[in-house]
Amino acid sequence: MICKKCGQDREFYYSYTRRCFSEICKDCIKEKRKKYYLANKDEVKKRVSLYALKNKAKVSEYKINWARNDRELYPIKYQERGKKYRIEHIELRRRELRDYRARIKINGGCHTEKDWELLLKNLGKMCAKCGSLTNIEKDHIKPLSIGGRNSIDNLQPLCRSCNAKKYNKEVNYIPRLLFWRECFVNDLTKFNQNYGN
Ligand SMILES: [Zn+2]
Ligand SMILES: [Zn+2]
Repeated sequence: MICKKCGQDREFYYSYTRRCFSEICKDCIKEKRKKYYLANKDEVKKRVSLYALKNKAKVSEYKINWARNDRELYPIKYQERGKKYRIEHIELRRRELRDYRARIKINGGCHTEKDWELLLKNLGKMCAKCGSLTNIEKDHIKPLSIGGRNSIDNLQPLCRSCNAKKYNKEVNYIPRLLFWRECFVNDLTKFNQNYGN
C-alpha cells in the first residue's frame, strides 16, 4: 500500500473497530505522534497518568492483552530475549561456581560428603538456628567470602531460609543445635529460657 503522506510503500495500521486501514502509514503516524508529544509533553503526561488513575482495571487489562498480542505477533523477539537471558544466567552461575572453587582453594581445608553425612548423623539433620527439619543445607560458619575454611569443623546445617538470612556473617549455631537436640528429648521451656526471643 502506498502512503498518502510519504508516498512510499509501507505498513499500515488496521483498525478493527472501523474495519479499515489507517490513512497514512505506521511510520508517518508514529512521526506525527512523536511531534505532538514533544510539543505537548507535560499536557500528554498529565492526561495519561490521569487516565491510568481513573481506569486502573482497564489499563491493566490493556497491558496484559498488549503483551499477549505482542508475544504472538513477534515470537522471534521473545525467543531471542529468552535466549539472551538464559545465556547471561548460565554465565553468571558459572562465574559464581568458579569463584566458589577458587575461594575454597585459597582458604584451604577439605571434607568429603561422607564427613558431612556423619556430622548430620551425630548432630541431627536439623537447622541449627531454628530447628527446622526441611531444606537442610551446608553452611560455612565462617563464610568462604571472608576467609573461612572448607573443613568439616567450619560446617553447620542450616535450613535454606536461615542460611539466606545469615548471608556473609560469621555465626556458630552449633551450641544452639546441641541445645535443640537436648530439648527435643527433655524440656522445651529450658530452650526458650536460653535461646527464646
Ligand atoms: Zn508514510
Ligand atoms: Zn532455620
